[in-house]
Amino acid sequence: MDDRQALCDAYRYLAERGLNRGCTGNLSLRHGDGFWITPSGASAARLASATLVSLDLAGESLSPGRPSSEWRLHRDIYTARPEAAAIVHTHSPHATALACLRRALPAFHYMVAIAGGPDVRCAPYALFGTEDLSAAVLAALDDRKACLLANHGLIALGADLEEAVAIAEEIEALCGQYLAACEAGEPVLLTGDEMAAVLARFATYGRAPAAEE
Ligand code: 13P
Ligand code: ZN
Repeated sequence: MDDRQALCDAYRYLAERGLNRGCTGNLSLRHGDGFWITPSGASAARLASATLVSLDLAGESLSPGRPSSEWRLHRDIYTARPEAAAIVHTHSPHATALACLRRALPAFHYMVAIAGGPDVRCAPYALFGTEDLSAAVLAALDDRKACLLANHGLIALGADLEEAVAIAEEIEALCGQYLAACEAGEPVLLTGDEMAAVLARFATYGRAPAAEE
């Protein structure tokens, strides 16, 4: 499928699943020396391939239209994280609720390792669209594929669009489970060794077995 159509479809999918609504959130996909990004103020109903904006890594527009106000954040992640090919930003309800408490998602469930480590950090608050937000998010994303943004939402990156969307969806679900567990009592956290074992298993999870030597 055409990359731009895939980006529009992913934007719509996240809206349909309730991870974003109205103009909240934005998505991007690396291409060539730059990336495609959703336009600022996009709604799922109005988004179309022709409205996506192409930027290079200097932040220069290569196509008409106003890019997402978070273009700098996307650009800075692509620059700092060469393995990132797609980025998903949401204001999904449970991740945002936890982010408003300015709390990280701890190792309360083994699937937290989907983001690459034993927790999902929460970046300190900074105004949307600013360099300060980029710096805070890049630090919180160190060794991770997702982080929360204080008083704002969630961001996830992936080696492709499918992975970035899957991580955002899973972190949103985990934040809901964690908040529910906190309401019922005090969740028991997995130990460092237990999470290290999960991370080791995730390195080969879902892959075809290695061919016999
Ligand atoms: P844009 O519509 O400019 O992408 O902004 C939405 C958003 O989530 C800002 O953080
Ligand atoms: Zn946002």
